[in-house]
Amino acid sequence: MKDYRKKLKDCKRVVVKVGTSTLTYENGNINLGKLEKLSREISDLVNRGYEIVLVSSGAIGLGCSKLKLSERPQSIREKQAVAAVGQCELMSLYSKLFGEYGHVVGQILLTRDVVEDLHMRENVCNTFQILLSKGIVPVVNENDSVAIDEIENICNFGDNDNLAAIVAKLINADLLIILSDIDGLYDSDPRVNKASKLMPVVFEINEQLESIAGGAGSSAGTGGMKTKIEAAKVVIGEGINMVIANGAEDRSIDRILGGEDLGTLFLGEKGEK
Ligand code: GLU
Repeated sequence: MKDYRKKLKDCKRVVVKVGTSTLTYENGNINLGKLEKLSREISDLVNRGYEIVLVSSGAIGLGCSKLKLSERPQSIREKQAVAAVGQCELMSLYSKLFGEYGHVVGQILLTRDVVEDLHMRENVCNTFQILLSKGIVPVVNENDSVAIDEIENICNFGDNDNLAAIVAKLINADLLIILSDIDGLYDSDPRVNKASKLMPVVFEINEQLESIAGGAGSSAGTGGMKTKIEAAKVVIGEGINMVIANGAEDRSIDRILGGEDLGTLFLGEKGEK
């Protein structure tokens, strides 16, 4: 089989998306070890010349943990308030951890109207550009305290998988890496069918693939495989490659960029098949 992973070695501008389930333990508490490793790994990649944008979930998850709530709140108002607390906590941790490795982070909170308005979109693209040119790591999330769209899943942004795809498109990234609590895309639901197999490469997203991806994910985040396939659809159409891999794996970003066969690669349409 052709080595489709080889081309990932040339990627320079990379969007990495981490979900709440990667950043917190099952009991809801912050996984400091994971956050620390992630910050160290990205810092080291920036040292090597990569431009990395981190799309991080966790505002509500960390808010719940900080406020010692036993479960995620149900009402929109409460979710927004919890996100306001959690987003602070998240950035304070990233700032501290990246700072330990000599790096600076910048927070970008987006809402759907920002990327749909030409003028605001240009402004935010310029912000990304300047941050990256100064070696600063942009950390992106939806502005959960003002936007109910994502939290309630009513419209387009929907979740951070789709947000990460939009960011990848905005900044003209070479690759989007989605780190999740699953090893990649399977040919059937691995929670139901023990014999299901991990798909190493996906060339095209068709109806069959979409029906495989149907179900929801774990209880910690909002996105399941469905939203990851939606994200893949957005980026591969732009010629951007995407990899879904397990965030619990050690040095997964580094290994993917080194061409290692980790997770599922969705080949950007401009790539030769
Ligand atoms: N923006 C949400 C948060 O930070 C998470 C959305 C998602 O994981 O898709 O809690």
